[in-house]
Amino acid sequence: MNPRAILIGAPGAGKTTVGEILARDLGCAFADSDQLVEAENGQSVADIFVNLGEPFFRQCESNAITQALSGFDGVLSLGGGAVMDMNTAKELTASGSPIFWLEVSSSVAFRRAGLSAPRPLLVGNVRANLVSLLETRTPIYEKLATHRIDANTYDPQQIAQQISDLLTNGVPC
Ligand code: ADP
Ligand code: MG
Repeated sequence: MNPRAILIGAPGAGKTTVGEILARDLGCAFADSDQLVEAENGQSVADIFVNLGEPFFRQCESNAITQALSGFDGVLSLGGGAVMDMNTAKELTASGSPIFWLEVSSSVAFRRAGLSAPRPLLVGNVRANLVSLLETRTPIYEKLATHRIDANTYDPQQIAQQISDLLTNGVPC
């Protein structure tokens, strides 16, 4: 059993928002790696970073994703940095699940990342940190993705619909 769709991309790309809508449209369960780690530790991601440190968070994140990849068949959204773990990256590819990269420009990510929960890695000069994160992560998103979705201009419902159509019609990447 593996996820029927996995969403990856930058902080603020819309992975959580679109994933929830997609799961509802498909009538299946939704899981988000950040939420899985928060539930396990009883703290927000931001608090885990402060109280327990990033390496601890990354370990929990990697464990949560390993479990989901073999025991969860709904829509799985990943935290933006999860793909940087080499083991996670290998397991994502091996899972055979379709992997949708919600692609956004750094300016769109910047605008949206400020709208929701605090983002621990973006504190300080948010814009510069985001540009640098994206430079490092973009090649990995690109390599792992089986489908690229333009998440700059469409609204979350439209993006979920595009993904749902791709899943239903089996349109090649
Ligand atoms: P991620 O999980 O990728 O970090 P979120 O789903 O938390 O991103 O979205 C961040 C913010 O951007 C939220 O306030 C959400 O409502 C908004 N948002 C997400 N996708 C879009 C979109 N396609 N158009 C406009 N706003 C969006
Ligand atoms: Mg999210």
